Amino acid sequence: MSKFSSKRFETLEAYTPGEQPQDKTYVKLNTNESPYPPSPLVLESVSASEVERLNLYPDPMGEQLKGKIAKLYGVKMENVFLSNGSDEILNFAFMAFCDKEKGAFFPEISYGFYPIYGDLYEIPYKQIPLQTNFSVNYKDYCDCGNMVVIANPNAPTGMEIGLAEIEEIAQTNPNQLVLIDEAYVDFGGTSCVGLVEKYDNLLVCMTFSKSRSMAGSRLGFAIGNAEIIADLEKIKFSTNPYNINRLTLVAGEAAIDSNGYYIDNAKKIIETRQNVASQLQELDFIVLDSKANFLFISSPNIGGETLYGALKQKGVLVRHFKKEKIKDFIRVTIGTPEQMEIFVEKVKEILDEGEAKS
Ligand SMILES: *Cc1c(COP(=O)(O)O)cnc(C)c1O
Repeated sequence: MSKFSSKRFETLEAYTPGEQPQDKTYVKLNTNESPYPPSPLVLESVSASEVERLNLYPDPMGEQLKGKIAKLYGVKMENVFLSNGSDEILNFAFMAFCDKEKGAFFPEISYGFYPIYGDLYEIPYKQIPLQTNFSVNYKDYCDCGNMVVIANPNAPTGMEIGLAEIEEIAQTNPNQLVLIDEAYVDFGGTSCVGLVEKYDNLLVCMTFSKSRSMAGSRLGFAIGNAEIIADLEKIKFSTNPYNINRLTLVAGEAAIDSNGYYIDNAKKIIETRQNVASQLQELDFIVLDSKANFLFISSPNIGGETLYGALKQKGVLVRHFKKEKIKDFIRVTIGTPEQMEIFVEKVKEILDEGEAKS
C-alpha cells in the first residue's frame, strides 16, 4: 500500500479472478466463458463505421439496447438498467441499498465478489452456510431484515432454488432489496423476472458474459421496479455516466437480435453438461445437480487441488477454491464436446496414474 492510500482500504482483500494465463494455450474451462463465438450479427455490428464513431461518446442511457432488452423480457424500459458487466450492478447495489446499519445476507458458498463489496463499503454482512447437500435453504433469507443476495443458479455449485422459494423471500422482506443474480439462468434455470411486476423489492441481475458469449465486452443488465432502477442510475451518473462503450452497445443490440442463436448454444451446452456429468459419475465422481454452464465435482480418489494441478499440467485449466468446505471440489466450465472429451480423457489418465502409484 502506498503512503497515500486511505486507511479504509488497509485490510481490504481484492477479488481474485480466475486465471487468464497468456503463457500457453490451455483447454480453458476455468472462468465459465462460452466456448462459442458471438453470433454473426454481433460480428457484423462492430463494423469499421462504428469504430469510426469512437470519437463520439456513447448514449449514456443506452436507449436502443434498453428497448430491445425490455421487449425481450416483457418489461418497460424504465425497468432496465445497463451496466459494465453485471459485477457493476452488484457494486452499485451494495453502494445504493446498504450502509453501516443495513447489511446483507448471502450464502457462505457463492460468488466470491459479494463479501468483497461488503468489505469495500464496510457493510455488516452475514454469510449463511449451505445445507449439507450444498443447496441454499431459502428459509434462512425469509423476513431477515437485510438486503438479500442470492445467485440462482448458485455458483460454484450450479444448484438452483425454485420460483416459489424466491417469491417467499421477496414476499417476507417487503422493506429489503432482494437481489437475484441470474448470471447462469439461461442454462436450464428458471428466471424470476416475471415476479418483478409483483414485488417492488426484487432486482434481477443478468449478464452477457456467459450464455451470450460476450465476456470480453463487459455488459450486464438488471431488471426491477422503476424506482430501484432510478436509484442505480443515480449512482451510475454519479460515478461513470458512459459506463458502456459504443462498440459494446451495438454488439449488445445485435446479441439480443440473435437470441435464437444463443438459445441454441445454451442447448448444446446443457446437452454436453449432461453427457460429461454421466461420464464423471461412472468414474465415481460426486457431481452436483447443475443448472449452469459448469459442473462442481469431487472424487473420493483425488483431492480437489491435486486434480486441479494435474489437469493444469496436462493443459486443462479448471477452477479450484481453497475454502475448507469445498476444497475437495473443482469447478469445470462446460466447453465444446471436443474440449470436454479432452477433459474426461485427462481425468481418466490422472486417476489411472494415481492408482498405479498406490
Ligand atoms: C460471472 C458472474 C457474474 C458477473 O459477470 P460479469 O462478467 O461482470 O457480467 C456475476 N455473478 C455471478 C454469480 C457470476 O458467476
